[in-house]
Amino acid sequence: MEHRVKLTFYGGINKVGGNKVLLEDLGYDVKIFLDFGINTSEFSKFRKDFPYTNEIKALTDCHVLPREIDIPIKDIYSKYFIFNHTNSQYPQKVKECEGKVDPPTDLDGILISHPHRDHYRGISFVNRNIPIYTGVVTKRIIKAYSRSSAQRFENFLHGLKWILFRTGNVIQIKKLVIYPIHVDHSIPAAYGFIICTSAGIIVYTGDFRMHGPLQLMTADLIKKVKDVCKTKGQIESDFTYREGRVIALICEGTHIHKGSIESERIVKRHLRKLFKIIPFDYAIVQYGRVDWDRFRTYVDIAKKYNWKYIISDKDAYFYNRLNKKAIYDSMKDPNIENTDNIVILLQEKRKFQWKEDVNQMLKNIGKSERIMHLSDLKDLNKNFFLYITSIYDYDIIKNYLPKDLRGVFISSNVDPYAEEYRMDKRFISTDLLDRGVPSYRVHASGHSKPHDIIRFVNEINPEKLIPIHTEHPDFFRKLFKGERLEVVLPIYNIPFDITSS
Ligand SMILES: [Zn+2]
Repeated sequence: MEHRVKLTFYGGINKVGGNKVLLEDLGYDVKIFLDFGINTSEFSKFRKDFPYTNEIKALTDCHVLPREIDIPIKDIYSKYFIFNHTNSQYPQKVKECEGKVDPPTDLDGILISHPHRDHYRGISFVNRNIPIYTGVVTKRIIKAYSRSSAQRFENFLHGLKWILFRTGNVIQIKKLVIYPIHVDHSIPAAYGFIICTSAGIIVYTGDFRMHGPLQLMTADLIKKVKDVCKTKGQIESDFTYREGRVIALICEGTHIHKGSIESERIVKRHLRKLFKIIPFDYAIVQYGRVDWDRFRTYVDIAKKYNWKYIISDKDAYFYNRLNKKAIYDSMKDPNIENTDNIVILLQEKRKFQWKEDVNQMLKNIGKSERIMHLSDLKDLNKNFFLYITSIYDYDIIKNYLPKDLRGVFISSNVDPYAEEYRMDKRFISTDLLDRGVPSYRVHASGHSKPHDIIRFVNEINPEKLIPIHTEHPDFFRKLFKGERLEVVLPIYNIPFDITSS
């Protein structure tokens, strides 16, 4: 049997986001993709240039997704499940899809590491015969995004074949064995993958950090890699892993070029300092919606100083969904239904599927003082947070917040890269300046700082190190010069061979 793996990179090269890595195991005859994301800035540009286009061809022509002729996979994209928003609504499209079956394909699966769109958004377009492997909560968040987003082709997930896992499970695709292990990141349900191929062990990190509240999860990945490395000869009887070493590490490097000393604890400490004596009546705060740790940090501050914490009905939908079926205890808190400081602003007038869930939740809450309408905002006087996710929320500030109050803006956003919820910061800050609202930035990143990436790589000790999800892959080359490993910089659509010889 051949012991050979081919890796081909179709995204996340020299940039942050849009990871799509094709792993072809020639020995085991298995082909899988590691993530199938869409780069956020590339997609925004596409939408700006082609606001009405609903064709995969347009996406592939712009290289937002790889062209079919560039991928050695039969029929990777769906023939029937592509939604056209100019023609119909989702329910109508779902009906049209009844009985439709995509042609057979030779891709054995797509593994989604975590529910940030730059890692999964391409799955809306794939052949429905391809199994999508992802975490239980990862899928839940992806579905919540889809249900609460505009009915557009990039959010249409109908017909996908999900195969769900949790940490501790083992995925087997033919003879390929994969261990998904949780890692800490700025969103729950993030995983790294340990892949036992015919050529040796390959590790794919997804996005991770080592300074977050759940940093022990990332330590679990390192530990599991070491354990798997010790299983020399056990996984495959005719093959022993060379030196019990990882043959290739595909490692995210968002912050390989810069770091700061930070942690969620420091965020909390800084917020406490700001709130100890607060000369402001309200605070507008902003961060990625499903950055659960940040959400908890703010709600804790709101409770401590007895401020209201105003979130939108859509935010409440997300949090409630995660509360309800929390796998990790950390996601039961804050609890939307029971936390009195959390106030829900009924904001979204359009009809969405998720509205029913929200209505049920409001019924459960029952207390009228915890529910607000936009028109109630003008009566607010003091001691409230207003959480915003996007520039659309700025209209609320402009049109509804009382002008005579003294406000402060705290940017606590995810990294200033193309990840989730990129906000037009210039627009926000200029308008806030006009309004006389000063701003602060209190933040801890979802990505590892240079120290931690180096430590992580040293712990994994791979033969080959392949940086991805970074604008500075060459930093890896410089930082690991002379080490007992080879740094390989991926090139778009140029397969890279890994053999066990
Ligand atoms: Zn991410």
